[in-house]
Amino acid sequence: MSDYMFNLESHLTAEQNAALAAVQSAAAEANLSLYLTGGALRDMLGGFPIRDLDFSVEGAALKLARDVAKKTNAELVSVDELRKSAELKFESGVVCEISMARLEKYPKPGAKPQVTPATIHEDLRRRDFTVNAIALSLNRASRGLMIDPTNGVSDLEHKEIRAITNYTLYDDPVRLLRLIRYRARLQFTVNERTWQQFLNAREAGVTESIQPRSLFGELKQIATENDPFEVLKALDEEKLLTLFCNGLTGAKLNAAAFQKVAKLKTMIPFGSEVPTDWYALNLWCLTQPLSSKEKAALLEQTGMTKEEAEPWQKLEARSKKFEGVLKEPKLNRASVIWHTVKAAPGEEVFLLSLKSAEKLVQERLKNYFGKYLVIVGEITDAEVTDSTGVAPGTPEYAAARETYTVARLDGRIKKPIPPEPEPEPVIQPRGPFARSAKPKQV
Ligand code: ATP
Ligand code: MG
Repeated sequence: MSDYMFNLESHLTAEQNAALAAVQSAAAEANLSLYLTGGALRDMLGGFPIRDLDFSVEGAALKLARDVAKKTNAELVSVDELRKSAELKFESGVVCEISMARLEKYPKPGAKPQVTPATIHEDLRRRDFTVNAIALSLNRASRGLMIDPTNGVSDLEHKEIRAITNYTLYDDPVRLLRLIRYRARLQFTVNERTWQQFLNAREAGVTESIQPRSLFGELKQIATENDPFEVLKALDEEKLLTLFCNGLTGAKLNAAAFQKVAKLKTMIPFGSEVPTDWYALNLWCLTQPLSSKEKAALLEQTGMTKEEAEPWQKLEARSKKFEGVLKEPKLNRASVIWHTVKAAPGEEVFLLSLKSAEKLVQERLKNYFGKYLVIVGEITDAEVTDSTGVAPGTPEYAAARETYTVARLDGRIKKPIPPEPEPEPVIQPRGPFARSAKPKQV
């Protein structure tokens, strides 16, 4: 196996590796040339966590996406017929994009591009920034071969974002926003010429030609960033945030809510998961201080559909309902609270932590994050087997673990005390001084 393949597989989660294997085998079966591209390679080489997987195919990408969806039961989330690109969501929650390797020609800034099929080399050269224009071959004959026609690897080493051509930011002006987002997320510097291009393009007013749907796509990306506030602040500093909504600037940014969410996130113990619709929660934070007129402007300027607006518009009502459940007196045991909060969507839980004025609700949520998740996260298979006699991998194991977890949470079983470590053996000195050396007292 090439070093890059090894590096990649060890960098991906088990679920991402399974998605990678599924796409690879479907492409091999269809005899299509497949490459991993975009963020996954940038993040692998740069040592960042990999968020989603982007694949490029020389040829029939949409057919491959449909094949993979059928074989794996993945959901076909969206299809871009113009760019021949589809987004898939696997049952494990892993998201991936399968796109046709292509050329895009822009008749004028922000206009609909003319799309033609291309080789992977051509495809990489039409992208936005060099760090995003690296591919890894997943084809049998050249598996693990790195393709880097714009020297992205070197820019990654220097932590620099560089536009691929002098027209990059003019052709598709949403790239001005992407540039600021990557700079904020990766904490990279922007290459001097690229920065000059950014200033000139902004001065020339190219952002006016960004299509509402492109703005919505970007907004969705921002809302699912690990630290959306950093990006929003950076966009505001560059005077680009009002593109989304005229009133959205300065104090309207709702720093307090974003900071509270960031703090709550740090309370999730390592290894625990709280599945959350970050888009809904972060857009709620973003829109909370806006007037109804400003909210309407956001919908209009981003061409947001009703289905896209609902998750954040209805979030407060949903979480209010959950508040009613969480304050019920019958939730009087740790295990019952744990079950109840675990079953609720993360965005409702976080919003309640952020907003609820009910003391009991706040206390229960605090215990959930600060105590119950910690206890549950520490339970080992060995501990479950010792207590219940059921071994992992057997059909009864899940139920045994559940019973044990409930007993631990409710304090009916105490945390097992780890055995005392064996005392270190006393090493008798050897050699010419052995007789005179005193053995160590233990
Ligand atoms: P993330 O970690 O946020 O997914 P990403 O770099 O993978 O980052 P995507 O939006 O998933 O970003 O896009 C995948 C790749 O497609 C990018 O790395 C880039 O090469 C290319 N790309 C996406 N949008 C554009 C664009 N507007 N112009 C040029 N290339 C783009
Ligand atoms: Mg991506």
